[in-house]
Amino acid sequence: MRPPRLAPLFATVRALKGVGPRIEGLLNKLVAPRQQGAHARAIDLLWHLPVSIVDRARMPSISQALMGELATLEVRVAEHRPGGGRRGARAPYRILVEDDTGALELVYFKADPNYLKRLLPIGETRLISGKIEAYDGWLQMPHPDHVAAVDKDGALPLIEPVYPLTAGLSNTTLRKAIDGALRQLPKLPEWIDAAYLAKLAWPSFADAIRGLHAPDGEADLLPSAAARARLAYDELLANQLALAIIRQRLKKRAGKSLAASGDLRRAIVGALPFALTGAQQRALGEIDADMASDSRMLRLLQGDVGSGKTVVALLAMATAVEAGTQAAFMAPTELLARQHLATISGFAEPANLRVALLTGRERGKERDGILDALKAGDIDILIGTHALFQETVAFRNLGLVVIDEQHRFGVHQRLALQRKGTGTGAELLVMTATPIPRTLLLTSYGDMDVSRLDEKPPGRKPIVTRTVPLERLDEVTDGVARALESGAQIYWVCPLVAESEVLDVAAAEERFAELRARFGDRVGLVHGKLTGKEKDAVMARFASGELSILVSTTVIEVGVDVPNASIMIIEHAERFGLAQLHQLRGRVGRGAAESSCILLYKQPLGETARERLNVMRRTEDGFVIAEEDLRLRGGGEVLGTRQSGLPAFRIAILPEHQELLEAARDAARLTLSRNPTLEGDDGERLRLLLYLFERDDAVKLMRAG
Ligand code: ADP
Ligand code: MG
Repeated sequence: MRPPRLAPLFATVRALKGVGPRIEGLLNKLVAPRQQGAHARAIDLLWHLPVSIVDRARMPSISQALMGELATLEVRVAEHRPGGGRRGARAPYRILVEDDTGALELVYFKADPNYLKRLLPIGETRLISGKIEAYDGWLQMPHPDHVAAVDKDGALPLIEPVYPLTAGLSNTTLRKAIDGALRQLPKLPEWIDAAYLAKLAWPSFADAIRGLHAPDGEADLLPSAAARARLAYDELLANQLALAIIRQRLKKRAGKSLAASGDLRRAIVGALPFALTGAQQRALGEIDADMASDSRMLRLLQGDVGSGKTVVALLAMATAVEAGTQAAFMAPTELLARQHLATISGFAEPANLRVALLTGRERGKERDGILDALKAGDIDILIGTHALFQETVAFRNLGLVVIDEQHRFGVHQRLALQRKGTGTGAELLVMTATPIPRTLLLTSYGDMDVSRLDEKPPGRKPIVTRTVPLERLDEVTDGVARALESGAQIYWVCPLVAESEVLDVAAAEERFAELRARFGDRVGLVHGKLTGKEKDAVMARFASGELSILVSTTVIEVGVDVPNASIMIIEHAERFGLAQLHQLRGRVGRGAAESSCILLYKQPLGETARERLNVMRRTEDGFVIAEEDLRLRGGGEVLGTRQSGLPAFRIAILPEHQELLEAARDAARLTLSRNPTLEGDDGERLRLLLYLFERDDAVKLMRAG
């Protein structure tokens, strides 16, 4: 339960003064977080920060006022000139104002004359502020931003924050709404350690928010400004605390001590068509040590596409099975689950491991059979999608959970899976193909132990990457024709047309039709609108070599493994993010053949897009690409937070706030070691913080005992 004093902050903006249905709609569009059912709340307004300021400190006389510039003037109202004319073609309402040096017309289109007469009575002096323009030789100020009586102290903001807006919403209206939200700020106790706060000379939480919305100059908008830094720290602290709570909970249950003599593993390794890389062996050593110890394993296996994570997972599962338990392996999609089933059951055969599949597609009798066998202990390794973790799925003795998340599962989902699947204290191995920069590793996994596969299996040849403008599509297709003659297999990825799957599919279908007209039956098509069965069928035909060209939308992005495929063509590569391009390219270069990647782009290229494509040409190193991605995108939106499941921050920006992140991690660790269940006043304050930044899952988890 959210503490009652925070309720006003989490009420919808509709509760704020001056916000009616129209403005509410605009605010929903502007600031509502997606996962909140698209309803903007007061707190969302508070997190909506200004991007620049307008400085009205200049107070020239009319004759000194500069054309095209913003000015604040002290003027006398001389004359009202109502707009005449017929309805529909109404002339604007003009008001002549003057000072000792000259005159100026205020121009209002569509304004209520009575309102204007009250606002600017003839003969009175007013402060007006707005942009000066010239029209027909006259000085004008169309729709002044502000009009204030001179004696009303502080009525006119000299420095005004400027916010990102949406069509139909003015800065002034938004500011009023934000002012309303600021008034909802309750009195809150301080949760930051007093000494730390004093050392950095940070304002209180409430003062910091007020400060951010009332900047005194450009410097106040920088990430390093005290108010901004304080709130960034708060947000990062909430993030680190939540992760630390999750970790603490997972670690608290004594793990099993899973040790084995290694017979099963030897049987598998002996039959592999390759030798394990040094990196794979190192990772296995670390995993073995974790599993053998009696505290629970919580390990992230990070390895670029093609680095051979699957085998590592299988060998870890073999140990779990030999130690008398079962293992579960969860893939992000059904397609991948099926592919893993094929790979893993093949490799596992020499060890006689019993491997089964459970996805949403297994139903009725088939599903019941699997569940019974699982309960009876007749299945050693169960591979599947998140269907693995439904309540009805019961293992006889689950020892190890492997999550091949490839970045599709967020922290919260992971958390849920943990609770369902592993009440038994199963060991946990999470695998990710996204080379997450160190900075972000901390924000999305907290202090998880990490093994890195930083070495590719031997014999991989470099992938030659070329960028080609779309105008030269014909040459590319001719190249495809030549490659097909020598037996090559080709991925052809179609553009992300819009945020719409339907449009993507249409584009892929069109390309498919064209290629098919030229190359016939050897061309296949796979996209997200196909059923699981249909996708599998196409993929199987491509894997078997029956199809030579696989046209697809980005559904092949994760994990698909067809070692014979050696050419990757990506249309409209400029629309993809770096991480995505890297994942796609990683589909080739897995076999013996020379591989290439052709990035087709549409001219003209924007600067960032050009840089992205250059990075792709320059390097294949996922970690370098990830760091470049971070640099090119700048903070907040790293790696496409939405798809990736990485937490999105509202105030903190990385890497700018890296130091604060580390301080927050240390503080979270220290706090929980002293006060693991956040008891007492100190605990109460930190819970408030978790609620403020909507990390309340962690609080619930703690309550659950
Ligand atoms: P990812 O890390 O992307 O999941 P995979 O596990 O799919 O990578 O492995 C990619 C390919 O490399 C597979 O075909 C796999 O059989 C092969 N592979 C894995 N380990 C080695 C190795 N040590 N030597 C050679 N090939 C390997
Ligand atoms: Mg994989």
